[in-house]
Amino acid sequence: MTTTKTRDRLRIAIQKSGRMADVSQDLLARCGLKFRQSRDKLFCFGESMPIDLLLVRDDDIPGLIAQGVADLGIVGRNVLAEQTLAARANGEAAPGVELRPLNTSRCRLSIAVPQEMEYENPQQLQGLRIATSYPALLGDWLARNGVEAKVVFLAGSVEIAPRLGTADLICDLVSSGATLAANQLKEAVVLLDSEAVIAGPEEVPLDERGELRELLLRRIDGVIQVRESKLVMLHAARGAIETIRAILPNAQTPTLLPIEGSPDQVALQAVCYGAVTWTHLEDMKRAGASQLLVLPVEKILA
Ligand code: ATP
Ligand code: ZN
Repeated sequence: MTTTKTRDRLRIAIQKSGRMADVSQDLLARCGLKFRQSRDKLFCFGESMPIDLLLVRDDDIPGLIAQGVADLGIVGRNVLAEQTLAARANGEAAPGVELRPLNTSRCRLSIAVPQEMEYENPQQLQGLRIATSYPALLGDWLARNGVEAKVVFLAGSVEIAPRLGTADLICDLVSSGATLAANQLKEAVVLLDSEAVIAGPEEVPLDERGELRELLLRRIDGVIQVRESKLVMLHAARGAIETIRAILPNAQTPTLLPIEGSPDQVALQAVCYGAVTWTHLEDMKRAGASQLLVLPVEKILA
């Protein structure tokens, strides 16, 4: 069911508590959004802009978008992809599309096998029982690989299923692999690379929310760019600038400024999108740079 009612305030659904809660609050705060804390903490009124917050379970976010209750949501690609496949299997429309990857909350949806098993190919999984909270994504992968296995649905604590004897393997989220190791399991195949994403309906709302959504997405682009940007400043002889420019990682066109009293020297400033490592600095120093400074960037509006 889709509500077509017009609204003049945009609603964003984010996880109330859990792994993505702080990341989501932090991103919105960096976009300049401030919210009045409500007593029930389910709905927070936006004070700085006509953008309100819904604090919910992450699994409810795609559904809230599908129903038109939320205009945007911050959710793991794993959750969005699972519910999109499940909706399609039921002949329903996708609950929302990925509007922006957020390059945070990275994890993988993987099949993990007992440590003693030598995994070589999908055919080895034929006839086995696989516990997962992601039956649609797992079912899709099994079908694409021509494997007939039994999918055992578990809402949580999937990793203990093999020890309990209710499954032979699992398909679950992995980041460091420490949880798997603690349960005598190891990652065998990656089904999906996940990260937090901004999701929303494919169509931009036609009322005031449309412009608010575009404005917020532009601010999010800026925040992401800033998070990965550094301002590099250094001094060098004019003749060394070309070599130094080639070392700067993903740099914008640098600004060159004269230095009082040193006609053959210039000061260089450049924003780099990506990590500036010690090795980069050492290479630039070797190429003739001095007074090297790497500064965090607070805001960018190109
Ligand atoms: P909720 O109560 O909202 O349903 P949850 O228990 O389903 O919470 P969390 O464990 O808080 O969910 O994880 C939320 C999201 O964080 C996951 O869907 C995934 O996208 C991401 N994530 C990142 N790293 C991991 C990890 N190592 N394990 C699980 N999820 C991870
Ligand atoms: Zn959840």
